[in-house]
Amino acid sequence: MFTADYQSTQLRDLNSVADITQQCERILIDANTKKQLLEQDGSFPTQVRFYQPIDSLIVSLGNLSGRLRLISDSFNEPSIKNAARVCIKKIANFESELWLSQPIHEKYLNISQGDLDDETKYSIQKYLIQFQKKGVSKDAQTRAKLHQLNSELTNIGQQFNKNINESVRYIKVKPEELKGLPAEYINARSLDENGFIEISTRYPDIIPVISYAENDEVKKRLWFAFWQRAYPENVPVVEQLLQKRFEYAQLLGFDNYAHYIISDKMAKTPQRVKDFLTQLNEYTKAADQKDYNRLLARLQQIYPKTDKVELWQRDYVYELVLKEQLQVDSKAIGRYFSFDKTKAGILELTQELFGIQVKPWDTWLWDTSVTAYEVYDNGKLLGRFYLDLHPRDGKFTHAKVVTLQKGIEGKQIPVAAVLANFPKGNAAMSHREVTTFLHEFGHALHVMFASTQWSNTAGVSTERDFIEAPSQMLEEWAWHYPTLSRFATNSASEVLPKEMFDAMYAARDFNLGMNTRQQLHYGAFSLDVYNRDPNGLDVDKLSDDLQSIYTLFPANDDQYLYTSFTHLNGYSASYYTYQWSQAIAMDILSKFKENGMMDKETASRYRQLILEQGGSKPADILLEDFLQRPVSFDAFAGKLKTYSQQ
Ligand SMILES: [Zn+2]
Repeated sequence: MFTADYQSTQLRDLNSVADITQQCERILIDANTKKQLLEQDGSFPTQVRFYQPIDSLIVSLGNLSGRLRLISDSFNEPSIKNAARVCIKKIANFESELWLSQPIHEKYLNISQGDLDDETKYSIQKYLIQFQKKGVSKDAQTRAKLHQLNSELTNIGQQFNKNINESVRYIKVKPEELKGLPAEYINARSLDENGFIEISTRYPDIIPVISYAENDEVKKRLWFAFWQRAYPENVPVVEQLLQKRFEYAQLLGFDNYAHYIISDKMAKTPQRVKDFLTQLNEYTKAADQKDYNRLLARLQQIYPKTDKVELWQRDYVYELVLKEQLQVDSKAIGRYFSFDKTKAGILELTQELFGIQVKPWDTWLWDTSVTAYEVYDNGKLLGRFYLDLHPRDGKFTHAKVVTLQKGIEGKQIPVAAVLANFPKGNAAMSHREVTTFLHEFGHALHVMFASTQWSNTAGVSTERDFIEAPSQMLEEWAWHYPTLSRFATNSASEVLPKEMFDAMYAARDFNLGMNTRQQLHYGAFSLDVYNRDPNGLDVDKLSDDLQSIYTLFPANDDQYLYTSFTHLNGYSASYYTYQWSQAIAMDILSKFKENGMMDKETASRYRQLILEQGGSKPADILLEDFLQRPVSFDAFAGKLKTYSQQ
């Protein structure tokens, strides 16, 4: 049999169409040969003879496809991105064949379990579930159909993402129409020959306008431009996505795709998710109404005759109320969060909290704005990560972490890339963006710490509805003054005043009801759109109907949530994970609140018992190990209920 070696190609060797094509060809020929050898091997499958070789094959493919996903989302040259997508499809195609191979499945079933450790047993168990979910036990005709659908779904998913990445919209405004925005924002943008400023739907452009522009028409135009991204291009793509996934789930014996995708999550069934969302909706209705009334009252001071707050007005009035009634001036606060200092501060925080050292990594980079780092623990290299944090043409427009390679103990260290779209240099970040930075960095740390034995236990290969918890947990340090005071300084090097922070903290839960319900709307939409037969479904109407159940804002005709809702592809029915994980994060945090946010002992237990374990145990076991009791949603529900009753 072949040796269990791990192949990986460096990014600099994937920086041309020819390089990608050759690497792709090479690895797939190799993978096919190995697959055939394993299928034909008549000997008894053991850990050494079967499990290690097959896992090294899976890891090697993951090493290439992880890098290709980064290239497709973040490299600058369209032809290279395209070559990456072509190769991702080929790898996905091979993987589909692998999971549908009955001889390979047979070997997984027959591995002698006697002397295996718990992690390996759990890893095998997870793979066996995966084989079933992929349809390995179906007849040949069904397997062929499933394989065909896999391939079509990869195409559809890629098209969906590509349309969103490429659909940046612009509006043109006169500088005087930007009254209310910080002078730095206007000064940083040039005028065209007709005296207009072009404003894009990218976050650093749109967030300040929606938050501060006094001009209602400008906010409205930009808001609609944002919610019309990838419309109408993605209308037929979404239709196809839903249709094919439904067909896929039905072939596998599930009612629909929501049942299929949730079956191996913590929540287990769509009904449980629905109950969860419905219950949270009940808890937050009163709070939302209270928040809404406060915004409406303030808006009526500007427009006495208005009887509702429109979605494009929400953030603007919210900022007015914050400033005038709660003494929180977000523009003034932003001056303490320059990008460069925030980045340095977050790296420093994680070094101190988790006892690690982060050092610059001298390596090839695909854009001048990208930086790279190595993570050490007492001289031992734990992992590496890239930070690609500013918008560029054709780049992924939201925020996420891509795993380039997982950490396999003794074999390879993990490598991840954080993608986001923040302002650059000493430009001001909003406090919300600082929180997003911490969130994404939480995912990266999870990848860095979770080096395990096998590909399906390493990194963030845990249940999808647990995956956000470590990130949402880390967000809490954006609300920890001792942390902020170390990096939140203005251009005169003055620290964010404590009174300013105290006012922010006191106002923290203002809009909790409204924000939670918006997330519930997205969660319910992601669930319901998949929890049915999509035949004849009016996706737009479903989204609008749910918006009226879950929020107090009227739906608008020209607003399309689903065409640019990236999670509809990647997370499918499980967007609810953000609320689910939030509930878990709050429970984990209770330990830090008890022992101190910078308590080394708590952080170290958290790192060892949860993060380092990756997906080597079910999430509820990891949580119980750390909490020393079963995980509970009471803290989260209690907080929402308390706020509603105030
Ligand atoms: Zn996340």
